[in-house]
Amino acid sequence: MKKHGNVIVEATEIKLIVCNMCACDIDITSHPYVDNHISIEKVWHYGSPFDGELHSIDLCSACYNKFLQTLMIAPNLDGDRENQLCLNTGKP
Ligand SMILES: [Zn+2]
Repeated sequence: MKKHGNVIVEATEIKLIVCNMCACDIDITSHPYVDNHISIEKVWHYGSPFDGELHSIDLCSACYNKFLQTLMIAPNLDGDRENQLCLNTGKP
């Protein structure tokens, strides 16, 4: 026989995201379905330059756009990795 009782479970939710580049608050509550930031999370393995560290970065869409301008190769937008363009030359 099993007797059941109520259990209080604590949960957390994200209340605020701050852009790592410009330090602005990223509004995630007023338009929850608007995709206005990017989150990058990486655990660096042993032997890497960041040996075992967890890096978690959030960028607002404006700063992500600035980040894109620093890339030599355009991000893959449609899954076609064969035809990515060099941002400097516009050539594949
Ligand atoms: Zn930003």
